[in-house]
Amino acid sequence: VGVGCSRGTSAEEILALVDGVLLEAGLSPLSVAELRSVDAKRDEEGLREAAASRGWPLSFLPPDRLRDLPVPNPSPAVTRAVATPSVAEAAAVMGGAQLVVPKRRAARVTVAVARRRPRGRLAVVGTGPGDPSLLPPMARDALARAEVVVGMDAYVERVRPLLRPGTVVRTSGVGAERARARLAVEEAAGGRSVALVSGGDAGVYGMAPDALELAPPGIDVVCVPGVTAALAAASLLGAPLGHDHCAISLSDLHTPWSVVRSRVRAAGEADLVVVLYNPRSARRRWQLEETRRILLGYRDPETPVGVVADAFRPGQRVEITSLGRLGAEAVDMNTTVVVGSSRTRVVHGRMITPRRYP
Ligand code: SAH
Repeated sequence: VGVGCSRGTSAEEILALVDGVLLEAGLSPLSVAELRSVDAKRDEEGLREAAASRGWPLSFLPPDRLRDLPVPNPSPAVTRAVATPSVAEAAAVMGGAQLVVPKRRAARVTVAVARRRPRGRLAVVGTGPGDPSLLPPMARDALARAEVVVGMDAYVERVRPLLRPGTVVRTSGVGAERARARLAVEEAAGGRSVALVSGGDAGVYGMAPDALELAPPGIDVVCVPGVTAALAAASLLGAPLGHDHCAISLSDLHTPWSVVRSRVRAAGEADLVVVLYNPRSARRRWQLEETRRILLGYRDPETPVGVVADAFRPGQRVEITSLGRLGAEAVDMNTTVVVGSSRTRVVHGRMITPRRYP
């Protein structure tokens, strides 16, 4: 709320106009963030008393910061008095706030009200493997609070029942990750509360890195963890991640195959349990077989391998085989493959990597 007043104006007079203006505009006095005026009013007792009585912070701005702000009602008389053509309006809009009540005047007071640009919020939310019971309450809260939800159709459909009525949904098909991240960030930068949804955990081969790279410092960013495919698959297989493990994506869409290959070798060398994301798709046909052959250079053909397709979704398939027998046919883009270490065993049909070395 920008306020101008003549010398010696009382707090009552000031508050009468401020309250009247807020009431008329349908604005709660509780929504007032600050009273502002011009430097020349620093020692106006009435102004200080008015602000203090409501607990509103009060600040004074130098005329040269107010002088050039575009306002609807500049006045030469005001310029003569305090060296800026506007006090109430200019003080209210300073910093990019949007004028909602232009200057109103009483006998000795002027008041204008501006709305601060709301602070945007971007929640990057992992939706888990699929089953709604694997969506944590924190993710539900973030979704319920979003005004805008951005994501791939399949993921957004899964969480649609959790959105508030009136939520704007911006979906798109597979791919275009960078564009989705940009859209979400732009919406948040415009002052809205946005949820960007991504399957599993949003930070694991998901949307979070793109979104966080693009997010400007002026918005609040929250990342809500989700159940990633490695954990979903592992829980269905038994306890294959009981000891040191790593994840490697076999997608050479964003990564040169030479890099993937050297990581597979290193994981083989280090005797890590290896979780393979993106193991196979219509266009990615030979990578899994090459990976298997590399790992066979380090591991016994009897090493247990878990194959989990559509974990916690309709059509779920769970199979335990071995590195020697692993065939590509059972593996598609909705599958996660877990290759055991030299210590991994199958006990009563469950894949287990013991926590201890003997
Ligand atoms: N952000 C996701 C991973 C995206 S990469 C996550 O954290 O889970 C896509 C790959 O994840 C798929 O190719 C598959 O290997 C794996 N994946 C995702 N959901 C899966 C599920 N429900 N069951 C099995 N694998 C899954």
